[in-house]
Amino acid sequence: MQDIRWRAFWFGFVLIFISLVIWAMDNAITALSVFAVGSVLYLISHLYWLHRLLKWFKNPELAFMPVGLGAWEEVFAAIYHEQRLHNRSQTQLTSALDRFRHAASALPDGVVLLNGNDQIEWCNPKAEKQLGLSMKTDAGQQISYLVRHTSFIEYLQAQHYPEPIKLESLRQPGTTLEIQIVPFGLNQKLLLCRDISQLEKLEHMRRDFIANVSHELRTPLTVVGGFIETLIDMDGAIPDSTRGYFAMMQEQTGRMRHLIEDLLTLSQLENAQTMPEDSEIDVVALLHMVMHEGQSLSNGKHTLTLEADSTLGLIGATEELHSAFGNLVSNAIRYTPEGGEIHIFWKSRGPYGIFGVRDNGIGIDQKHIDRLTERFYRVDRSRSRETGGTGLGLSIVKHILTRHQARLEIESDLGNGSTFSAVFPKERLTHKQTALFQ
Ligand code: ADP
Repeated sequence: MQDIRWRAFWFGFVLIFISLVIWAMDNAITALSVFAVGSVLYLISHLYWLHRLLKWFKNPELAFMPVGLGAWEEVFAAIYHEQRLHNRSQTQLTSALDRFRHAASALPDGVVLLNGNDQIEWCNPKAEKQLGLSMKTDAGQQISYLVRHTSFIEYLQAQHYPEPIKLESLRQPGTTLEIQIVPFGLNQKLLLCRDISQLEKLEHMRRDFIANVSHELRTPLTVVGGFIETLIDMDGAIPDSTRGYFAMMQEQTGRMRHLIEDLLTLSQLENAQTMPEDSEIDVVALLHMVMHEGQSLSNGKHTLTLEADSTLGLIGATEELHSAFGNLVSNAIRYTPEGGEIHIFWKSRGPYGIFGVRDNGIGIDQKHIDRLTERFYRVDRSRSRETGGTGLGLSIVKHILTRHQARLEIESDLGNGSTFSAVFPKERLTHKQTALFQ
């Protein structure tokens, strides 16, 4: 800096010195004239270098950087140095970006970067293919103008993305896409798109297989069961010494029939594309029915009580909910020893409607709770079998509740009992102005 200042001013000092010498040796007019001419030349030289600098900025190539004179030599050297650093970091950034783009292009899944207004900032070739986008023409466009599925637009607008959604591709029929949005940075979003057609196909095959096997087994089993029953009922058809075996055969065919019925129910629920017709359910009548079924299953071994808020109505599929509530009551009876108490309730809790079954039975260890709704998951296999369980009851309950946008809550204390609650959202509830039913 010191150097620059010195270089900037030395011409001025020399000019003043020469002018003073001329003044002393000759006269003031000559001295002032020399001073004026020198100053103009000095100014012209600065304007020249300033012009060169501005010209260079229009095309800032290092190779064409002027060298400069005097103070300008320092200025150009400093700019040259800065520009070199800038170029180097620019090159590093470009190559990092290129590497990222290459890696993202090689991804088997589609990736789209969206800004805060859901406009496309960038997408990889896979996303272009899967979603029918083009980086050349669609960059900066709102993604909702280009991916027109209603469910996608609703998902995007929800601004809350805990789960991915599935979409049938409009561009490639038969292709199912799974789309997950991940928010990041300041309102930006990363959209991940995966082709799950193969997985869907396999899942479809699995469901069809179970449905077909169950269906095929039902008829022979009904025939075998029917004959066993007829033989048992027919006087003298079977000797007394083998009657016990026939009773066992009848029990086992009954179990198999129950299992097949549950498998069929589950596959029907899984395969159903649409919800059955919703209707306003007479909850009190339904709960009475469920309670009477429970009482006949208990056969007087338990005390069953019912408490229902009759002002609280429910909208849904009566048959499905009957099956779900019945399953929860049947479980409470089967896993509560004789003399136990079972309380069935229907009430509101905040904005939600709760159907619950509380028992003081054997309870469940916490470690099992998260897995209870898995198919065939049983805490105690032999107890489940003894009481006629199939291991599918809670899976069926979960499916039915999911179809009603409801969830299953399980609270349990090992040895002290459990409470199973179906929690319905406010959209499924209605409110009447009638008295509380007990
Ligand atoms: P299962 O036909 O075996 O009863 P479910 O799917 O209905 O099958 O239930 C899964 C498991 O959850 C049961 O095997 C049992 O261990 C446990 N369970 C369900 N309800 C209760 C309950 N009320 N009390 C204790 N355990 C229960």
